[in-house]
Amino acid sequence: MDSKKETRTQEPGTRQTKHRIAVIPGDGIGQEVIPQAVKVIRASGADVELTDFDWGADRYLLDQITVPPDGFAMLGRDFDAILVGAFGDLRVKTNIHAKEILLGMRFKMDLYANVRPVRLLDASLCPLKGVEPKDVDFVVLRENTEGVYTDAGGVFKQGTPDEIATQEDINTRKGVERIIRYAFQYCERHTKLDGSPRKTVLMCDKSNAMTHAGSLWQRVFKEVSGEYPQLTAQHMYVDALCMHMVRDPRQFDVIVTNNMFGDIITDLAAGLQGGLGMAASGNIHPGKTSMFEPVHGSAPSIAGKNLANPFGAILTAAMMLAHLGFSSEAARIEATVLEAIRQKKTTQDIGGPLGTREAGEWVATKVSRS
Ligand code: ATP
Repeated sequence: MDSKKETRTQEPGTRQTKHRIAVIPGDGIGQEVIPQAVKVIRASGADVELTDFDWGADRYLLDQITVPPDGFAMLGRDFDAILVGAFGDLRVKTNIHAKEILLGMRFKMDLYANVRPVRLLDASLCPLKGVEPKDVDFVVLRENTEGVYTDAGGVFKQGTPDEIATQEDINTRKGVERIIRYAFQYCERHTKLDGSPRKTVLMCDKSNAMTHAGSLWQRVFKEVSGEYPQLTAQHMYVDALCMHMVRDPRQFDVIVTNNMFGDIITDLAAGLQGGLGMAASGNIHPGKTSMFEPVHGSAPSIAGKNLANPFGAILTAAMMLAHLGFSSEAARIEATVLEAIRQKKTTQDIGGPLGTREAGEWVATKVSRS
């Protein structure tokens, strides 16, 4: 991750006061990987104050509270960043707590830019033949507050042969414009891992089938791209993009897309990086408290077994530190994760012999000495 540049785009950045970070491990493997990320943050020496919150399924099952009153306002007021694990628990069938906490944070705190760097740290992690780290170095910017995730729609005549279900895809001019503009700004301000400038913003949609929303995205993209003549604007339908991503990931630089396509293509992209256990993300609203979470979910099938890869969470912590202005600490953490991969000090999903705790401990110890 290009930590130095990461810092430049992020406004908070003053180092005079201690940065305050809210830590919400959540459910499942979130409770295993976040403690490792916290250990590494502490080992990095970054001058931050960490406060734990127990929001998640256990708390919900105990007192039916998903988010305490004033919870989101408190996060925005009292913290500079939020580090989140994952939400989702088989005991909560409705998944109401996950919706209220995670989507609540994204929607109510208006964290409109979901930033997902896709970087291959080591060739051994990529399932594609002959692909080297320099070939997979792009970022997906996913609109994070609209689309089909607004839960607009309904079911009519449920349970009858005449049942009708509608799911609305909400696209506002404001929402589309700000994520597209964010993408051009991101492209302008960030370099690739090798230091070369980013040059291309590609908008991914399905405007040939979803014509109304597609038309809005197309018009806004054309308009905003006109403000950045030094950058190249490209377009690709989402189906074609999936094919190209596995055939030749080299061609991608900055991809901007809607909420659902972003969700889908970043799982595919995570596959290029070594799987869900390796992928980091940030939920950003420039100038406001932003939230950082690994791309993976709570993974109930492996939860509680010390199997989960903590590197996605650790790389997420590095991304958060870079955002807060701790560029060198972030760079040290990333370099150490790379070393862990090279030395096979990893969990089984990426070919190592270690458990979650042991892999986290290895990175923390190295980071504290580097
Ligand atoms: P969600 O619906 O929130 O995406 P999920 O449980 O359906 O959650 P994930 O949690 O993203 O999906 O995980 C899907 C699978 O990927 C897991 O069952 C597990 O096999 C693998 N996986 C995810 N995260 C990790 C990780 N950190 N380490 C190892 N394997 C992981």
